[in-house]
Amino acid sequence: MANLRFQVVAEAFKKKPLDIAAPAERPCEYFGKKVFNREKMYKYLPKQVYEKMMDVIDNGAQLDLAVADAVAAGMKQWASENGVTHYTHWFQPLTEGTAEKHDSFIEHDGKGGMIEEFSGKLLVQQEPDASSFPSGGIRSTFEARGYSAWDPTSPVFIIDDTLCIPTVFISYSGEALDYKAPLLKALHAVNVAASDVSRYFYPDVKKVISTLGWEQEYFLVDEGLYSARPDLLLTGRTLMGHDSAKNQQMDDHYFGTIPDRVQAFMKDLEIQALELGIPCKTRHNEVAPNQFELAPIFEETNLAVDHNMLLMSLMRKVARKHGFRVLLHEKPFAGINGSGKHNNWSLSTDTGVRLHAPGKTQLDTLRFVVFIVETLMGVYRHNGLIKASIMSASNAHRLGANEAPPAIISSFLGKQVTELLDHIEKADTDALTMAGKQGMKMDIPEIPEIMIDNTDRNRTSPFAFTGNRFEFRAVGSEANCASAMIALNAAVAEALANFKKRVDKRIAAIGGDPKFAPAADGTPALHSAKFHAILDVVREDIKTCKPIRFDGNGYSDEWVAEAEKRGLDTEKSCPVIFERFLDKSSVDMFSSLGVMTKKELEARNEVKWETYTKKIQIEARVLGDLSINHIIPVATRYQSQLLENIHNMHETFGAAKANKLSERNIKIIEEIAERTSNIEAMVDDLVNARKKANKIEDEHKKAIAYHDTVAPKMDEIRYQIDKLELIVDDACWPLPKYRELLFIR
Ligand code: ADP
Ligand code: MG
Repeated sequence: MANLRFQVVAEAFKKKPLDIAAPAERPCEYFGKKVFNREKMYKYLPKQVYEKMMDVIDNGAQLDLAVADAVAAGMKQWASENGVTHYTHWFQPLTEGTAEKHDSFIEHDGKGGMIEEFSGKLLVQQEPDASSFPSGGIRSTFEARGYSAWDPTSPVFIIDDTLCIPTVFISYSGEALDYKAPLLKALHAVNVAASDVSRYFYPDVKKVISTLGWEQEYFLVDEGLYSARPDLLLTGRTLMGHDSAKNQQMDDHYFGTIPDRVQAFMKDLEIQALELGIPCKTRHNEVAPNQFELAPIFEETNLAVDHNMLLMSLMRKVARKHGFRVLLHEKPFAGINGSGKHNNWSLSTDTGVRLHAPGKTQLDTLRFVVFIVETLMGVYRHNGLIKASIMSASNAHRLGANEAPPAIISSFLGKQVTELLDHIEKADTDALTMAGKQGMKMDIPEIPEIMIDNTDRNRTSPFAFTGNRFEFRAVGSEANCASAMIALNAAVAEALANFKKRVDKRIAAIGGDPKFAPAADGTPALHSAKFHAILDVVREDIKTCKPIRFDGNGYSDEWVAEAEKRGLDTEKSCPVIFERFLDKSSVDMFSSLGVMTKKELEARNEVKWETYTKKIQIEARVLGDLSINHIIPVATRYQSQLLENIHNMHETFGAAKANKLSERNIKIIEEIAERTSNIEAMVDDLVNARKKANKIEDEHKKAIAYHDTVAPKMDEIRYQIDKLELIVDDACWPLPKYRELLFIR
């Protein structure tokens, strides 16, 4: 009987890189070719309509239907010139992918023929039959009246013959059924709060933009090998597989030469991504074999999130063209690094100030300190929630293993910033002379000059300061970044608003003017009552948020004990961590900022728990099936071969000699017997645990039962299977092994 595994391995080895011709144009020429961006709006829209659109995009102005009609007409013209026949409202349901329903432009013309039509009404709103998208009971399925509404701040784009329109997805009663709606609200909240605080320093600031630069990690696996692994196919990860003798211990993959077939894939992917306006910048091998990374230049957060979603679906498509499958799962292989998606995050003003970057003057430094400290305040106050925002059944495998950030949120600041904060914390305010008249520039001893050295890094920190931004490293490779960005931006918005309230109160108490007067040359006064108020409040906060600061080794056991002492959330169970969304502090924060209501949070948690259960349920089924109909039959067949060999030995040599010669085989026969019967019993256990859990009606309790009673059994079964893989004849083993999945490309 031919072994499928050997066939697919042989074929995989023969595959050659696809020849991807470079486009005739340079990247900066084809960048955004398939996007209805400002340049195209300018070309395809009447001047007034264009200006109105700019006002909508830049200042959040209201869009009326007449303008929408004109925009739709321009869009359609551009789209038709590019061969487009269909359009779709593109949205991000809570299932973690993107969803779309395509409609063609054609309509009856009333004379028996067809015309192509696209109106503002169709652009702005659509009512897809949304009954099967998870909504956590907000919208009962028979009602099915979710609708999608255009997000004009993210430009429409073309995929194949379809015009894709980024939209929010909401229920008929207005609750968010997606990631984009609450994200836009969180971004608005941080804009308002950060602008207010920025104006203490730079009175001209009108708007603060949240920026996100994600780094997408992924694995590539040859498609033939992938198809011979039902576990990969159905769950996105390997549920079994013994370590390869060689894996990542030599560190020879990281930054090594990119393999040719992969290089061709990357080239193809980047060309298509650039055409879609995704500013791809960096590509390299990652730590684990067959693991790679792609990172674009950072963008405004809402756009960056859309681009990441788009890139992930593009990757899946392009990978198939190249005979690969892309694995976005956070932990496709045990024993080697998983994949994350570092979220580099910061805030910038419309006047060009990067709020987390130190500047030239003392004023800039104080602003820097305020934004660093208030970010830490937000992360500290909501550390459990922020962890919940990145938690999922798949990311749970990564967090807590000693490779990715630990399952405790803390922040690494580096030596310089730590010293700066310590200095401010300890400095004696009384030493400050208030003598200088308002507007005079004077040195404040509490604010030393700093230059941030970027090389000071800590790879184990989940939320690290990296010179001019924070890098949130705990985000999973498969996740929609919006979830992390909603929690983070909202937490920081709340901290900044709270900060401002306290500062203003103090200024009022001193009798100062919160709108403090700049000096004659325009430089804000450093010695105004305001700055003393700011310093006092920031000093208070430096002390308060200290528990979140941790520069040591996040993988150590001591840290877990220490973090518990500090009152940080150290919970590891995914379904329990989701409870943080419903903490009073979370509900208060989200509802007071207008990001999400309690009802929405509750509904979304139902979806999270349900999704968790389903994922573990599918994995458990696949593992049970594979155990019974792949692994046990193969092991038993090999066992029979050995028995036959012993039988022949007896015939040839007689009992005494045969027994001696068969010692090793007898051991293997016994081990197979023992392990297969263990597996059988464990699979029974697993099925029973599932049956029991399935009877639980409450989604929350059911997810916990799956976590506590079903998931651990899978590890035990896997252990037995992986041991069998080592002793069963390689020629019989049907599933591609780790050494093949990881080293063939
Ligand atoms: P590393 O792997 O060293 O962390 P990369 O160069 O791979 O760094 O990724 C850094 C990411 O951070 C890029 O996407 C970059 O555009 C982004 N970035 C830089 N500055 C900012 C900022 N102010 N806000 C958000 N992202 C930023
Ligand atoms: Mg990084």
